[in-house]
Amino acid sequence: MKVLSKLIEYSFAHGVHPRENKEATVSLPIQRMPFVNEYVMPLNQQLGAQCKPVVEPGERVVRGQLIAEPGAFISTNLHSPATGWVRAIDNRRYPGGVFARSIVIEADPYDSQQQPNAARDWRHLTPEQFVAEIQLAGIVGMGGAAFPAHAKYSIPEGQRIDHILVNGAECEPFLTNDHRMMVERPDALLLGIDILLHNLGAKSATIGVETNKPDAIDILRGHIRPDQPIKVAPLRVKYPQGAEKMLIKSIFDKEVPAGGLPRDLGMVVNNVGSVLAIADWFQYGMPLIERVVTVSGDGVRQPSNLLVPIGTPLREVLKFCDGLKDDVFQVVMGGPMMGTSVASLDVPVLKGTSGILAFRQPQSQRTREYACIRCGRCLEACPYFLNPSRLAKMARSRLYEEMQQYSVMDCVECGSCTYSCPSNIPIVQLIRTAKSQIRQSAGKVA
Ligand code: SF4
Ligand code: SF4
Repeated sequence: MKVLSKLIEYSFAHGVHPRENKEATVSLPIQRMPFVNEYVMPLNQQLGAQCKPVVEPGERVVRGQLIAEPGAFISTNLHSPATGWVRAIDNRRYPGGVFARSIVIEADPYDSQQQPNAARDWRHLTPEQFVAEIQLAGIVGMGGAAFPAHAKYSIPEGQRIDHILVNGAECEPFLTNDHRMMVERPDALLLGIDILLHNLGAKSATIGVETNKPDAIDILRGHIRPDQPIKVAPLRVKYPQGAEKMLIKSIFDKEVPAGGLPRDLGMVVNNVGSVLAIADWFQYGMPLIERVVTVSGDGVRQPSNLLVPIGTPLREVLKFCDGLKDDVFQVVMGGPMMGTSVASLDVPVLKGTSGILAFRQPQSQRTREYACIRCGRCLEACPYFLNPSRLAKMARSRLYEEMQQYSVMDCVECGSCTYSCPSNIPIVQLIRTAKSQIRQSAGKVA
C-alpha cells in the first residue's frame, strides 16, 4: 500500500484544537514507580467478557503469573503485577462510580520483584499460535479502549493484512506517555512492528506521529534500518487525530466503511504502548503487568511520566507524585476529552489507563446549559460528519431507533461536539447514554 506523498502534514476534515497542555511532562523521562502493598485487578478491565480467576484467596503468586483467564474469545488473560499473595476476590471500586469483581494481591515486601525474562520465539508461529500468544500475554489496546489485541490479529478467511499502522498521534491534551515511549524505546517499538509484520504477513508499516513531537519523529526515523519497510508520517496537530479511522483517513485518504473495521482496508491499527507490550512479551516473556501513565494537571504537585504496575491504586500513584493540592476539584482517568472522572482514589490503574489528571477547576467553565442556537459548530467539529445536535435532541427524547438511522453507532465519543458547543450542551454524554441503551437492548455488552 502506498503512503500518499503529500508535502504537507497528514490530516483529516473537521476536528477541534483544544489547548495541548503537554509542557509539564513532555520532557520528563519515564520513571519506574516503587512497589506498593496492595494491587487490585478488576476482571472486566478489557472490552468483552469478564475474565475467570484461576487462583484462590491465600495462594502464593509470582510477578507475571496467570491469575485469570479469558471468559470468551473477546476477553484476555490477567497476570499478577507483583509477587505476593492473593488476599481476596471480591468487589472493589471501579471508574464510573461502580464496583467490579477483582483479584486483590498483597505484595511480598521482601521479594525482589524480578521481571520475567525468558524470550519467546516469534519467527516460527502459525497465525493461530500468534493470536494465542497475544491473548496469553493479556495485551489490549492501550490508548484507552482496552480492546483485546489478539482479536484484531485473528483475520477471517478471504481477508489479508497488507499494512500495519502504529498510532503515535497522542492527540489528547496533557498526555505524553506515548511520546516518551517513542523517544526512549524506539528500538523496542521497531521490534514490535517487525513481529507484527512477520506474523500478519504485512508488507509495510507506518507510524503516525503528530508534529508537536518532532524529537520522536527524528529519533524513530534515525532508528529505522534501511531493510525495514517502516515509515514515519507526521500528522497535523488536531483532535481526534488518534481515532483510528481518522488516522487512516489522514495518512491514506481512505475511509473505513460504516460499521466496518480497518482490516476491511487491509490494515490493523495499534497503539504505541500495545506494540511495545508485544515486543516485551516476545523479548522478555513479560505479559502486560505494567504500563506508562502520565500524571498531570494543575492539581498535581509533581507531574510525572511513570511506569506503574497495573492494579496500583490511584491514591498511591498520586502519593508518589507528592500528592494533590488542597483545592482539587476533579480527578480524571485518561485524557480530558475522553477520560472518566473518578469518584474514589481507591480505583486502580487499569490496562487502558493512559493518564491520571487532577484539576483545580472543572474542565468546562461554562457549567450552565443554554438552548441550542443552531450555530452548526458541532457539525463542523464532528470528524465523522454526524449531526451531533440532532442526535442529542433525539437522545433526550429516547428516540433510540431513529438515532440508529442517523448512524449514532458510528460516533466514537471523541467529545469534539461538546467541546465546540457554545450552549454547553452535554452532547457526547447524551449520545453515550443512548448508545449504551441501544447495546443493552440488543443484548450486547454496554
Ligand atoms: S458526535 Fe460523536 S464522533 Fe461526532 S464529534 Fe460528537 S462525540 Fe465525536
Ligand atoms: S454547537 Fe451546540 S448550540 Fe451549536 S448547533 Fe450544536 S448543539 Fe446547537
